[in-house]
Amino acid sequence: MWTSLRRARTGSYFDYVEIRINDYWVQNFLTGMTRSLMNHELGHALGLDHENDEWVIMRQGVVDRYDHGILTPQDDDEEGVAMIYGGD
Ligand SMILES: [Zn+2]
Repeated sequence: MWTSLRRARTGSYFDYVEIRINDYWVQNFLTGMTRSLMNHELGHALGLDHENDEWVIMRQGVVDRYDHGILTPQDDDEEGVAMIYGGD
C-alpha cells in the first residue's frame, strides 16, 4: 500500500482527514508522480472511491496514471465530487 488515509465522520461530513505518505515508496518519484498521488489521495479525502475502468485520478496505480498523463482530476473525478457535494 502506498499511502494510508484516516477519516473521522461526524454526522454527514468528515471533520478530520489525515493522509500519510510512506517516504520509502515515494523517495524516487518524479514531481508528476507525486502530484498524481496527492490528487488521488485528496480524492479519497473528499469521499471518492477507486474507478479502475477509466483513466482518471481515482484509478489505482500511480505509475500507470503518470505514464498516461493523469496528474490532475478528470471529468469523471469532478463529477464524482459534484455527486457528493452538489454543484457542477
Ligand atoms: Zn486509492
